[in-house]
Amino acid sequence: MKDASISEKRLWKVWPGKNRFCCNGKYMAGPKSDFLYYIPSFVSLILIPNTFFIFVAPYIWDKVSICLPILSGIIYFITLSTYLLSTYTDPGILPRKNIIEILDQDSSSLDTINTDMSKYCNTCQIFKPRRSHHCKNCDNCVEIFDHHCSYINNCIGGRNYLYFFLFILSLTLLCLIDISGCLVFIFHDYSVLGPAKETFIKPGTVSLVVIVIMLAFITLIGVGALLLCLHHLSLCFTGKTTKEMIKGNEIGSLCYFWKKKPQRFDSRLILTEEQAKKITQGPFVVEISENYYSESN
Ligand SMILES: [Zn+2]
Ligand SMILES: [Zn+2]
Repeated sequence: MKDASISEKRLWKVWPGKNRFCCNGKYMAGPKSDFLYYIPSFVSLILIPNTFFIFVAPYIWDKVSICLPILSGIIYFITLSTYLLSTYTDPGILPRKNIIEILDQDSSSLDTINTDMSKYCNTCQIFKPRRSHHCKNCDNCVEIFDHHCSYINNCIGGRNYLYFFLFILSLTLLCLIDISGCLVFIFHDYSVLGPAKETFIKPGTVSLVVIVIMLAFITLIGVGALLLCLHHLSLCFTGKTTKEMIKGNEIGSLCYFWKKKPQRFDSRLILTEEQAKKITQGPFVVEISENYYSESN
């Protein structure tokens, strides 16, 4: 129990590095510096599928089949959900030395993790667990680091990889469905079935131009998503992260990413003035026990 001397300063408010927190520390995302990539990608994810729903889906629904618009709606919901989950899930951030001390003292919240004693992070002042890496964009160490994705605005690591994988998979499917819908809309023989009087926007020159532009964008995104999807499917079978594949490291563990790791800290932990001060001042002592992390897990 906390006594009266404890301030209401929570851990996420003094968290070092560039990660952002929202909803009183419940969710964490990447740095603001990603916004140049993140905002256009988020706007595209809202704008393009909804243009499809406004211009193409009503015609397909009325004149061809209701299956394609319904399928597109379901896959779009999965795509958007997994995108937001990838952005706002802690990717597996490892607490810095001074935070580890505070967490240990207050809650003993950290369990043991595999550690490569040869890899020491000077910023976080910890021996990095195997497969972890210090992300320069986030300025924090991430467990089972795959890569930092500015379009997602987060690192992709052990805790959000599954969401990211499902996102690129559903994005690929969404693009395929929407491309099919656009092609049906463009090449459908209106003369046989007559004009789509009941649709929200009738097929015409203006809507046709919009749809051709949208089709070009969807195709471009779809090709990128498909290539990314194939790359990550190959990683799932080799058990490597993107970083390990690039570096040629031989650390394989089949479908390692499917096992979601526990969060290594409680961002809502209430700190005393002294603890908050210790964190904001940063770690000064390089010493850390080599037995802190064990070989279990
Ligand atoms: Zn680090
Ligand atoms: Zn990062």
